[in-house]
Amino acid sequence: MAFCTITEHKNSVIGAVDRLSDELTLLALNLHANPELSFEEVKSAAALIAPLRAAGFSIEEGIGDLPTAFRATFDSGRPGPTIALLAEYDALEGLGHACGHNLIGTASVTAALALKACGDALTGKLQVIGTPAEEEGGGKIILANLGYFDHVDAAMMFHPRDKTMVTRGGLACVDATFKFYGKAAHAASAPQNGISALDAVIHTFVGINALRQLFTDDVRVHGIITNGGSATNIVPAYAEAKFLMRANTVKGLAIVKQKVFAAAQGAADMSGARLEIEEGLTYAERNNNLTLAGYFQQNLEILGVEVVPPPVSGGIGSSDIGNVSQITAAIHPYLRIGDVLPHTPEFAEAAGSPAGLQTMLQAAKALAMTAVDLYQDPSMLSAVREEFSQWHSQR
Ligand SMILES: [Zn+2]
Ligand SMILES: [Zn+2]
Repeated sequence: MAFCTITEHKNSVIGAVDRLSDELTLLALNLHANPELSFEEVKSAAALIAPLRAAGFSIEEGIGDLPTAFRATFDSGRPGPTIALLAEYDALEGLGHACGHNLIGTASVTAALALKACGDALTGKLQVIGTPAEEEGGGKIILANLGYFDHVDAAMMFHPRDKTMVTRGGLACVDATFKFYGKAAHAASAPQNGISALDAVIHTFVGINALRQLFTDDVRVHGIITNGGSATNIVPAYAEAKFLMRANTVKGLAIVKQKVFAAAQGAADMSGARLEIEEGLTYAERNNNLTLAGYFQQNLEILGVEVVPPPVSGGIGSSDIGNVSQITAAIHPYLRIGDVLPHTPEFAEAAGSPAGLQTMLQAAKALAMTAVDLYQDPSMLSAVREEFSQWHSQR
């Protein structure tokens, strides 16, 4: 068998994506037309699994006790790294695929099918990990905590956006629900017998607002009242507020959390209510592997796609890819699908448009080409791993 250069392998995977484009474009449109919410992505997961199974990947469904999570693995039988392509496929309530996850899931599956079709480009293992509930539930956090990324050498995906940028930050984030238990009483005839749980909620907001002057610029704390009592003539016996807290790092977030929790406890003490705190999953900050992102950028440029730098500060949210990036080398590049911002009806439209589908195919090519770099050039892989080890040792 003739020995191929990396460029020849890359040309093969580009050709394979082109051959797959009609079928996979239909798949992305099918997901787009049938949006499913977090943890309910039954049809979407099945639709993404089907072509992988047909291509000979071994399929594990319902991994991590999450019915809509999956892992598809192809083992080349040759020594080499394990590269994981991550698929998202959940949609948003009332807005459909307004974050374009139909394009994310399909791009990763397309890249995997293209790599498998060019079998001699592969060494080691190739995985597609189906990670449900990015929007609400943190599927990747659950899978990461269960060890699904422990033996992965590099994890990659793409996200549609209004700009093409290979690196962009992501804040650490956690939610907390404050449940205040007071005592009901007639608000006019016997208020002295009551304990107002609503007062505790109000004091919590006032306390947190006072803390803002002491937070660093990266910190975001935003909350809503989810229960403020049931009738104006009853002292509220129960009231509830939900907050999201964000900071640059999980370490910084721990300090913010401590102060916010203390404010809620102080509010409970002031009003005499009892406080219960329900804490959600912690989203870690994103650790972009710059070496890997650089390879991805080079491959985008080979495809003629222009890349712009990420914003210097601000303009960022949080995602469960952060937790993956704490465990292995990871990238989460953005590719432009139009002048649209996520979580809007316009973005949903772009995620099913010819431009959106075209971007998805470009992303699939760049993902597959970057995998070729890692499979075929051990020095490129070790540079990626070295950066990750350095980062990890300095944590
Ligand atoms: Zn989103
Ligand atoms: Zn998203």
